[in-house]
Amino acid sequence: MATPDLQTRVVHAVCSHDCPDSCGVLVTVESLTAPDGARTERAIKIAGDPTHPVTRGFLCGKVAQYLDRVYSPDRLLYPMRRKAGAPKGPAGYDHAKGREADAFERISWDEALGLIADRLAGIAAEFGPESILPYSYAGTIGKLGFGSMDRRFFHRLGASQLDRTICSEAGGVAFKSVYGIKLGTPPEDFAHAGLIIAWGANIHGNNVHLWPFIEEARRKGARLIVIDPYRTRTAALADEHLAIRPGTDGLLALAMMHEIFRLGLEDRAYLDECTVGASGLREHALKAERSPERAAEVTGIDADTIHRLALGYARAGRNGVPPAAIRLNYGIQRSENGGTAARAVCMLPLITGAWKRRGGGVQLSTSGAFPFNSNALEMPELMRASPLGREARIVNMSRLGHALTELGGSDAEGQGPPVKALFVYNSNPAAIAPNQNAVLRGMMRDNLFTVVHEQFFTDTTDYADVVLPAPTFLEVKDVQGAYGHLFAQISDRAIAPLGEARSNVRLFAELAQRMGFPEPCFRDSEDQLIDQALTADGPALFGPTFAGITRESLERSGHVPLAMPVNADGETLPFSTAEWFRTPSGRGELTPVPVFVPATESRSGAAARGGQYPLEFLPRKADNYMNSTFANIPRVRKMEARTTGLLEIHPTDAAARGLANGDLVEVFNGRGIICLRAQVGEMVPQGVVAARLEWNKLSGTNGHGGANVNALTSETLTDIGGGATFYSTLVEIRRAVIAPVST
Ligand code: SF4
Repeated sequence: MATPDLQTRVVHAVCSHDCPDSCGVLVTVESLTAPDGARTERAIKIAGDPTHPVTRGFLCGKVAQYLDRVYSPDRLLYPMRRKAGAPKGPAGYDHAKGREADAFERISWDEALGLIADRLAGIAAEFGPESILPYSYAGTIGKLGFGSMDRRFFHRLGASQLDRTICSEAGGVAFKSVYGIKLGTPPEDFAHAGLIIAWGANIHGNNVHLWPFIEEARRKGARLIVIDPYRTRTAALADEHLAIRPGTDGLLALAMMHEIFRLGLEDRAYLDECTVGASGLREHALKAERSPERAAEVTGIDADTIHRLALGYARAGRNGVPPAAIRLNYGIQRSENGGTAARAVCMLPLITGAWKRRGGGVQLSTSGAFPFNSNALEMPELMRASPLGREARIVNMSRLGHALTELGGSDAEGQGPPVKALFVYNSNPAAIAPNQNAVLRGMMRDNLFTVVHEQFFTDTTDYADVVLPAPTFLEVKDVQGAYGHLFAQISDRAIAPLGEARSNVRLFAELAQRMGFPEPCFRDSEDQLIDQALTADGPALFGPTFAGITRESLERSGHVPLAMPVNADGETLPFSTAEWFRTPSGRGELTPVPVFVPATESRSGAAARGGQYPLEFLPRKADNYMNSTFANIPRVRKMEARTTGLLEIHPTDAAARGLANGDLVEVFNGRGIICLRAQVGEMVPQGVVAARLEWNKLSGTNGHGGANVNALTSETLTDIGGGATFYSTLVEIRRAVIAPVST
């Protein structure tokens, strides 16, 4: 009698979650072929690739348990449509989780594609194609999953374009305004720094593969200083934590410049060779209002500390002292003045010439080093072939509530038709978009047709008319760069998609066929798309960084280093010479000078002066989730148990309101209200309160109807890049007056 054949193989994949580390992942897959030829396969192990120089063989806590997610009993495996008469919205806040399926009925892919194509065609005919709004972000950052066939589809349809601003746009535009390209200190080089400043960067929480390099530097004597209003895991492990007030980072950077210029510690030769605008910046920084004493009043960091910080920063890299590296993350740019703040911080290594030595500089992102051909993938020219015959309007994703409730209605901006169809993929806007009450009001509309492509029933699927099953990164093939290192990678499909899950590429290619789009580009395979992505299109850095990188070479090796320029010593030192800059002037641009303006919603801003909402609110990210992703995985939730359902508040603020640990409190402002338990302590400075982003339906103590922190955030945009201003939010708190609903 024949016996089953058991085979094991190891597949190279890449973690496609929105994280700078883009880890190389090894997936062990077991395949069983039964005597009758039937074959089953299952991923049985997931591990970091030990040969990847940044992954170095380990994964973060959440992805180390990724098979829980892949094989979760909660995975969506089939297309579904809302049952006739089933209302949109959670079935009931206390019972919604686990009962979502009651509102839906299973349908075939054929029915689902037909239904969606018919509805989109009808809406486009009646209201114009711009009434259709795609909504996606970085649920996957693989090039194909993030933006390829989906963009082609919506461009050809004539749908509104989405301005994908919600996470990093303010900082990215700011950095490019100074350097011309998003590039920074390679992570491995942090091991050579003598001073490391983690500025708005919770490295130990969500950039953990940088940590070993920092530890290596610390073993050699480097100091780690964390600048962050919240005492993050990273701050707790640092040599010094500066608990800055939210949204005041730009002024701290200017005060550091003040001291550096005042003491004559700038690198004049470097400034002359590599920058423009140094004298104007010097004059600006030396004004009295940028002095440490004045900055102390606003930032909450005392003048002596600012002086010491500036001195330590400027002296690093001189007289045999290893240089200073700043890890700037996207925290600081999510405030009203965040773009300017990012510009100011990014200028610091230009002033001291920190770039000239290995281990010096700043890293916000390395993504600009990857010249992926996004134009070839996304084909914006297809908009001309759409019924519009022109480029479609652009809707800012950070104002989704406005788009769903105001556009085409009372919209004074006259920006075209109302949104009548919303197509969500790679995102969970009901949980992560600011001004949540406006977003949910919009998504509740009966006359809004909503499609959601997802792996789980989320807060957003509660509002869907059609739900489509999406695969995890183990189930698709893709190519990926990184924004925290300099290796291109290919992610092979480790296992077949579970159930009837279909990739973004397949979904939108099939939908294009249903819509009758004749262009052959809608038949491109994944391999063809990968080849197109690798036909470099970005700015060359002295030469093509994709030299020698092809689909075949990536398939052979998994990861391949970019061909970065090197100096005579074989070192890659970004911005060490003028050739690196990609600004119009070909130099680091220090103009216009960064001007600090306090956020309207801050203790120094106009809104605070009204006095109604005096506390600065930090709607912070979890260490072990990826925004809202992973929040529904029990073992990952356990890792975040310390802050579940809590509002962290300083003892002074708690005492002023007669609150003690464990009290149920309402956190509110003019936009919304959430209910949490007070956790009194010094994780936040006086005047600041913090709570963690969570799924609405999983929010711990929610007497106010399944809302999360975004019930309180606004749709105000950043000064640069039109990004979201999550960290410019004022609130007040009071003892709760209603009983909590048990969950
Ligand atoms: S989330 Fe980040 S650290 Fe974790 S496995 Fe993915 S890329 Fe690596």
